[in-house]
Amino acid sequence: MVLNDQNEIEKILDFEKRSWAIKLVSIERWGEKSPCPIRFTVNPYQGCEFKCPYCYTWYSDKKVSTRVGFRDALKHDIERAKRFGVNSYLIEFSASTDPFQYIEKEKKESLYALKELLQGGFKILIVTKNPSFLLLKDYSEILNNKNVFIDVTITSLKEGTPAGRVLNNNGSSAKDKIRAVKKIIENGKDVRIRIDPVIPSFKTIRGQTPEDLKDLVEELSKIGVKTIITKTLRLNAWMPDPIKNILLKFYKENGCLVGSNYILSRELRRKMLEPIYSACQKFGLSFCPCYDLDAFSGKRKISFCDVQQETLKRMSDVYKDNARVVE
Ligand code: SF4
Repeated sequence: MVLNDQNEIEKILDFEKRSWAIKLVSIERWGEKSPCPIRFTVNPYQGCEFKCPYCYTWYSDKKVSTRVGFRDALKHDIERAKRFGVNSYLIEFSASTDPFQYIEKEKKESLYALKELLQGGFKILIVTKNPSFLLLKDYSEILNNKNVFIDVTITSLKEGTPAGRVLNNNGSSAKDKIRAVKKIIENGKDVRIRIDPVIPSFKTIRGQTPEDLKDLVEELSKIGVKTIITKTLRLNAWMPDPIKNILLKFYKENGCLVGSNYILSRELRRKMLEPIYSACQKFGLSFCPCYDLDAFSGKRKISFCDVQQETLKRMSDVYKDNARVVE
């Protein structure tokens, strides 16, 4: 790595050491092989009302709330980010909670944070399972901002039906999300879809079938979606017991422990994502396998999840430099 890059990474780490509202997307998450670009994240809420059956967020923080002192801390961090010159990095909004859960109607912490961050010069990638919020009048300024990018998670057309219980507990149905995404695209904004996670079927856990995945991609292609980002479920100690206790045996027998996560074998992960890859080829969509990139090595058509003009520096650079700084 050249000296300028080292200085840049040290600057990012220095900023992050004393920030509270703006944090780096966890560098431990994918470790030194992380294919992700360097990003910050802002989480306006604690916990999540959507209670996805596989998610640690609501399981470890049962009650949803605003974060005490969030607005002041955010303002403070934005000013520091400007001084450190790190406000050109993308903010993933949010990495650990949904910004548009039901509490947002009353508290509007996300709306506040989005406005402040955009004013502070940041680009923002909104990641949500409730895109209909972006069609509300109060959010139109956000929706129309060219520095705002949108990812919506839809894991199956069955979300919101009894057959989709392992994928969606308390969130919007696939039908509602697709309706909102269609409107946003018609308004001229690109929306990428995250089919995430893809869950294996084992005993009473019924993950997506290959047909489910193919049907979903086909449906999304019809409303003008151009990019799919996907990955398989990783299993860790913080996940809700009902799903973890059943799948642990399957993951131990068919995968291995990487850091704090069990991941399935490369072959199995490729098999699980292959229907999405094939459907993307068939319907002309870009396919990004996120951290399952290793399962798609070779001459296949793969894209990355970077948004326009995002940094070329990767989280793996931070990981390496972080290790060097600690030495
Ligand atoms: S919407 Fe996101 S943060 Fe909320 S429970 Fe589901 S996966 Fe977790």
